[in-house]
Amino acid sequence: MMKLKKKFKIYDPKIKEECAVFGISNSNDASTLTALGLHALQHRGQEGCGIVSYDGEKYHSEKRFGLVGDNFNDEKVIKKLPGKHAIGHNRYSTTGGTALRNVQPFFADTNAGGIGVAHNGNLTNAITLRNKLVQEGAIFYTTSDTETIVQLIAKSKRVKTIDKIIDAIFQIQGGYALVMMTQNTLIGVRDPYGIRPLVIGKLKNSYVLASETCAFDIIGAKFVREVENGEIVYIENNELKSVKPFPPRKIRPCVFEYIYFSRPDSILNGKTAYEYRKNFGAQLAKEDDIKADLVVPVPDSGNAAALGYAEEKRLKFDLGLIRNHYVGRTFIEPSQQIRSLGVKLKLNPNISVIKNKKIILVDDSLVRGTTSSKIVKMLYDAGAKEVHVRIASPEIKFPDFYGVDTPTKKELMAANKSTDEICEFIKAKSLKFLSLNGLYLGMGFDKRNNNYPQLTDHHFTGEYPVKIIDELGEDKVTQLSLLSTASNN
Ligand code: AMP
Repeated sequence: MMKLKKKFKIYDPKIKEECAVFGISNSNDASTLTALGLHALQHRGQEGCGIVSYDGEKYHSEKRFGLVGDNFNDEKVIKKLPGKHAIGHNRYSTTGGTALRNVQPFFADTNAGGIGVAHNGNLTNAITLRNKLVQEGAIFYTTSDTETIVQLIAKSKRVKTIDKIIDAIFQIQGGYALVMMTQNTLIGVRDPYGIRPLVIGKLKNSYVLASETCAFDIIGAKFVREVENGEIVYIENNELKSVKPFPPRKIRPCVFEYIYFSRPDSILNGKTAYEYRKNFGAQLAKEDDIKADLVVPVPDSGNAAALGYAEEKRLKFDLGLIRNHYVGRTFIEPSQQIRSLGVKLKLNPNISVIKNKKIILVDDSLVRGTTSSKIVKMLYDAGAKEVHVRIASPEIKFPDFYGVDTPTKKELMAANKSTDEICEFIKAKSLKFLSLNGLYLGMGFDKRNNNYPQLTDHHFTGEYPVKIIDELGEDKVTQLSLLSTASNN
């Protein structure tokens, strides 16, 4: 029993979701454009993908494991998704069992008609709500907290779908961006703090919703604006409407979108993620006094920061590591053992650049320390004279519960070791992290002033904007173990 309890602790990453969402209204090519949008957002999740369309009479749904380009790449599958409205989803690979039933969008019939739901984020009270719903007789088909949202919408006594959605989102807590579709409405929702991203675009007579602006570029849509924190936007009869049911709050987007998640060419608060990352690298260089021959990025996550660092220090920038582009992100491998191997599968040292050189190796973040330790060894084995690791974000000391898959405190290297100890562990000549103030300076704010915006930065500070409600008691173990079994089916 104790073993089970430990295994199915509430923060088991199995329960987490991190993903991409997309939706388009009023287009003759709705499903094709959704597939393209999802393809541009592939970096947010590679485990599975799905599209739900509505043809004026019926809903259609296709879900697959794997990449969008491998699954939604021909007319045959697109023909199965007719209609002028469509939503789509990319699911992030989590460390637990996988099941096609967990791949989104989800679909449900309610007394107000059908509704499709795609969700990026993580609820901090999903298990609590789920247990309550189960006690009231609800049956759950998946292990995803998105299904909890669907159940709450279906259960609402309100008449209009938009009111049912408001009913549901008043009960959920956490970081979330939702794209939903009913017979005649495309709907986007962003959590009260705007932790997870959601943007609005326009393509001729169509409105588009997506996790990031790079999804607009691929289909030629124009970026209109971000969905605001706590805002519900809905497109009805080709008109964009908005409601803000929550009391007004300052927006607190997740700082990890700036550091790692978003594609470099996506726009966050007026600038590309690339610009922010270059600034983080430049700030890191300003805080650093190390002498070296050249700056080498960890590709691709450290590219922009390394460029910023090299420019600031007027040091040579060179590609000391060559990446195999046919391997996914290291992080998404399911076990620590395979994850370690993953670094080797993905990167190889470029001897011509690094031999006998003093190197500054730049990456965007250090989580478990797997990537850095493997790469440092790789570079020394290939003849580097000195390897100095520089991380363009502060030490991650606190886990995330809003959809960024940074694991339990036990697994977070900086939560358990000092910088010197980490340096010793990864066997680097020296190690330095960007300061928290440097990170904010890189975004154009000085944290020492009172008027800087507070982002969702608990990873470094421990300041969580939304409380974690879910707690696991002895009595809930059986249910969670059942859920886990289901997820393997
Ligand atoms: P680690 O090897 O565990 O220290 O992880 C650090 C590497 O994972 C860096 O190269 C980052 O670019 C990447 N990374 C950081 N945060 C995440 C995340 N939430 N999900 C996936 N990868 C990440």
